[in-house]
Amino acid sequence: MAAPGKLSTFRLPPLPTIREIIKLFRLQAVKQLSQNFLLDLRLTDKIVRKAGDLTNAYVYEVGPGPGGITRSILNANVAKLLVVEKDTRFIPGLQMLSDAAPGKLRIVHGDVLTFKIEKAFPANLKRPWEDEPPSVHIIGNLPFSVSTPLIIKWLENISCRNGPFTYGRTQMTLTFQKEVAEVDVGVVHFTPLRQPKIEQPFKLVEKVVQNTFQFRRKRCYRGLGMLFPEAQRVESTGRLLRLADVDPTLRPSQLSLSHFKSLCDVYRMMCDEDPHLFAYNFREELKQSKSNTQEDEDEDDEETH
Ligand code: SAM
Repeated sequence: MAAPGKLSTFRLPPLPTIREIIKLFRLQAVKQLSQNFLLDLRLTDKIVRKAGDLTNAYVYEVGPGPGGITRSILNANVAKLLVVEKDTRFIPGLQMLSDAAPGKLRIVHGDVLTFKIEKAFPANLKRPWEDEPPSVHIIGNLPFSVSTPLIIKWLENISCRNGPFTYGRTQMTLTFQKEVAEVDVGVVHFTPLRQPKIEQPFKLVEKVVQNTFQFRRKRCYRGLGMLFPEAQRVESTGRLLRLADVDPTLRPSQLSLSHFKSLCDVYRMMCDEDPHLFAYNFREELKQSKSNTQEDEDEDDEETH
């Protein structure tokens, strides 16, 4: 019982270690799925501390696995923790944690790429976008193969203020694993900005960035050129770079946020001038020209036979 005037703090009761849970439920990591488990609770506590004060927070953990980070989140005195795990093998071990933290942990067997978190937490947690972030946090340690599409999806959700950002500027604390079997993880804490740095539609920014990195080791004009049909490529790429005041010899990784802002703003102006430009896809043009060449060759063959 908490002393009068003091807030009670929740601690998990003594439990088998993560290593023992892995042994008990035979949870060997599947290397093909880039599964890689954090066993040291001092490390998972450190990751969870990066999220800030989680007292009474609603937390969404993506890919809990055997539950190392899950334990640290539960020990941070959260109001509720919802975990979404794709691999059924982990559900019994997570159920053990749920029994040890009555009413706090909800386990969903599902896919984080399709799970709708916007319906999972109480609506009264929602905060206007300009306010301080809501008491909703996303935490996770996922393999690159999943975290990359997930982050791209969440960036679009931020720009549309939907998905996890229905609640406001939901904060994210995510680890990025480098390679399979590499234990070093980088932890990144994100808070969406009140005002975007680039005020253009997400799909346009995504297209400019994707094309720029098409040839990541070449100079940036090569990738940016792919935004334009071949017949006008040289001229339009030159115009884009000139108006955006970007040095064409820079490599994609040398471009700053303000370079991307100028490139997106000028490309937007060019799309407004030419209504077909945004729909242009260089891969389709390439496919088309290959099939035309094939047809020409077939015709030549017929004539010579
Ligand atoms: N969080 C645990 C830890 O730090 O020890 C496990 C990390 S392991 C790298 C990634 C976990 O995410 C695995 O448990 C895996 O089954 C799960 N996972 C992978 N893809 C997923 C998806 N699309 N949806 C839900 N869980 C996923």
